Amino acid sequence: MEPTEPLRVLFLSAEVVPFAKTGGLADVAGSLPKALHKLGVDVRVGMPRYGRIDRDKFGLVTALEPFPVPMDDQTMEASLLQGVIGDSVPVYFVENPKLYDRDGIYMYPDDAERFIFFCRAMLEGVRRLHWQPHVIHCHDWHTAIVPNWLKTIYRDDPFFKDTATVYTIHNLAYQGIFGYRVLEVAGIDEYGFIVHPDLPDLDNVVDMMGRGIYFADIINTVSETYAQEILTPEYGERLDPLLRDRRDRIFGILNGIDTEVNNPATDPYIAAHYDLHNLAGKAECKRALQHEAGLAEDPHIPLIGAISRLTDQKGFDLIAQIIDPLMQNAQFQFVLLGTGDQRYHDLFSRIHERYPDRMAVYLTFNAPLAQKIYAGTDMFLMPSRFEPCGLGQLLAMRYGSIPIVRATGGLADTVQDFDPRTGQGNGFSFRPYDGMALYGAILRALENYKYQDTWHRLMVKVMSADYSWDASARKYVDLYQRALASRIPRPPREVYQIGAEK
Ligand code: ADP
Repeated sequence: MEPTEPLRVLFLSAEVVPFAKTGGLADVAGSLPKALHKLGVDVRVGMPRYGRIDRDKFGLVTALEPFPVPMDDQTMEASLLQGVIGDSVPVYFVENPKLYDRDGIYMYPDDAERFIFFCRAMLEGVRRLHWQPHVIHCHDWHTAIVPNWLKTIYRDDPFFKDTATVYTIHNLAYQGIFGYRVLEVAGIDEYGFIVHPDLPDLDNVVDMMGRGIYFADIINTVSETYAQEILTPEYGERLDPLLRDRRDRIFGILNGIDTEVNNPATDPYIAAHYDLHNLAGKAECKRALQHEAGLAEDPHIPLIGAISRLTDQKGFDLIAQIIDPLMQNAQFQFVLLGTGDQRYHDLFSRIHERYPDRMAVYLTFNAPLAQKIYAGTDMFLMPSRFEPCGLGQLLAMRYGSIPIVRATGGLADTVQDFDPRTGQGNGFSFRPYDGMALYGAILRALENYKYQDTWHRLMVKVMSADYSWDASARKYVDLYQRALASRIPRPPREVYQIGAEK
């Protein structure tokens, strides 16, 4: 790379705010590139053009007319549309109606093909645009095939021969596991399965996440604690032997949030604006949320919120264990916004039937309502079993809602337990994955809420903290430089052999 050239980074993600979102990955992909751009990086984002992404609404224009993309032993056509994040970062959308013109984002039987095609079309697309990335930054299993390709079928390609890869694990629990056929689709069947002595399961499946970890020049995850946790069997989702082998290339960088979009002083979705110097608007947001949720409009009763995917990861089974004694012994209201596994939908519907006046349950995905809950609640609950970073607690603090969390992963890195005697800490946390530990943390939060001066100081404290991308984006630039400097041109054959088809 010439010293005067800007660093060119191709950022590949299955979801990007404001175009498509199911969770935190979309927030990161919609906000980190803006911060990188401010640091002078020529960053461009690629994602599929799902059916719901409206061409007119987002002002998308054609960047490339249909071009052939190798798939399996044939080619398929893609075109590229172009849009923008904020007013600066170009976003390319891979268009192929057969693969992407559907209602949802994931959970289709051909997801492997859909994301392999997206990645391949992006590589072939930037070649046609004559835009040669120094680094390709891949996220989660959907784009993990790219480091694999750059070390195999693309390794002698003059366009990509110096390109380094950074692979970010946002959630190790979703690995993208498929059968042998996927190797043919991706055009890498001649290399076969990965064989690792401590991972007997890996030699007869294609584990996309495993391939990203195995082939990337640099790997990172989204908090320092989670970067350590995933090296252990408890959190490693059975890839920990592979992660331990590559530990000298694994880093942890805490996510930031988009502090321009998520700003209680300007947020268009909330009932009144406020900032840390004048919190009157927050009281109005609470009243408006209580009204909308059908709860008593009482400024004094503590209002707890939760916004989450409803899966085993997020710890809501702990709430089920304690909700009845908690409701009997403490005065509070509760608003839940979440969608996910049917068993949690059933569970919270049943709980809601028991306490219709004291809680509201929204089993849907609703971004404007999420903003109203961050702004309108006094406390925000995240009792996760594991949490790579967690954005909910950061967003809550930005809006002055005090987090109650389990001390794991990024939650442990961002929330310290409050001690009223010393004033240290910024929330309430508990460690054992245990209903009674959660119960204790909620009671401590409710107890502290009674002392309004203390609570006010706590709100000002969490609202004054810096959750922006500024510091973390600089760390990503360092990571890109490190990937370029320590790029491995070939697969690490000295450690592994790539087995043939069994
Ligand atoms: P994860 O990525 O594991 O889902 P994070 O806390 O990192 O968890 O990010 C979750 C993001 O998704 C936050 O921006 C949160 O506000 C948003 N979110 C989660 N569930 C919903 C929902 N039902 N409606 C609206 N936004 C949601």
